[in-house]
Order: sequence, then structure tokens, then C-alpha cells
Amino acid sequence: MSCDLCGYSGELFRAQIEGSLMEVCKNCVKFGVLIEKEKEFNKLVKSKFRKDETVVLLKENYNLLIKKLREKQNFTQEDLAKKLNEKLSLIHKIENKDIEPNEAVIKKLESFFRIKLTEEYKEEKVKLDFKNSSLTIGDLLKLKKK
Ligand SMILES: [Zn+2]
Repeated sequence: MSCDLCGYSGELFRAQIEGSLMEVCKNCVKFGVLIEKEKEFNKLVKSKFRKDETVVLLKENYNLLIKKLREKQNFTQEDLAKKLNEKLSLIHKIENKDIEPNEAVIKKLESFFRIKLTEEYKEEKVKLDFKNSSLTIGDLLKLKKK
């Protein structure tokens, strides 16, 4: 087994990087959020709501997507709150990534803006993603610049 980012083989750690779950060496862990143990990884996935065998995860940049679309329509956070029949403080927290919207709010946002805020993973696919990193060289260069 080798690091999904640099190919180094040796001790590997699980990390969430740019929304993907990967196995990386200790040098590459800094590019993402370390998930030290299998247990913690499972907790992360299980904390998300699921439908049957599918794990639904919010897109990493959901807050920016919402903000961008809202501003495109010239809505203030207050306008959006009214349209969705939600509290202004909720919209504020969602855009600041202080909280993750629940399923009902996600549905409202998705139908209001006609976008997908979530990505669905089959449980098996989440495991496969550790090995089959979809990162390209370009993505790696972007990560290294940070
Ligand atoms: Zn590495």
C-alpha cells in the first residue's frame, strides 16, 4: 500500500482531503483532515443520514454554493430565510459552515436553487475511494500551493 498523494510506501494514515477519503503518508496528512482510526472514520460516515445502503454526504463547499447562488439572485440572507420559511440565523450559520443543514433544509435549498448539495456514495465506494484516488496531477499541484 502506498500514499494516495505522493506514492510513498510506509505507514499510512486516513485523511479526508478536499472531500475525498484517502490513505496518505504522514507528510501528506497536512493537506486534509486526519481521521486516525477506522472507528472515527465510521463515526464520520455514520453521523451522516443514509438511505438504504447509500451514504449521503454534503458537498465540501455547500456553504459557498448557497452563498454564490443567493448573491446571484440578489437575495440577502434575510430574503432567502423568508423564501425558505427558515430563520435568518439558520441561513447565516449554514453559509458560515457553523452548522450543517438537516435533510429537510437541504431539500428546500436544493429545490429552491435547483442544485445538488449532496453527493451519494455507496458504502463500498467509500471504501474503494481510499485506494482509487481521483486526484489528478493538477489537483496535487493545487494542494501543494496551499
Ligand atoms: Zn504522501
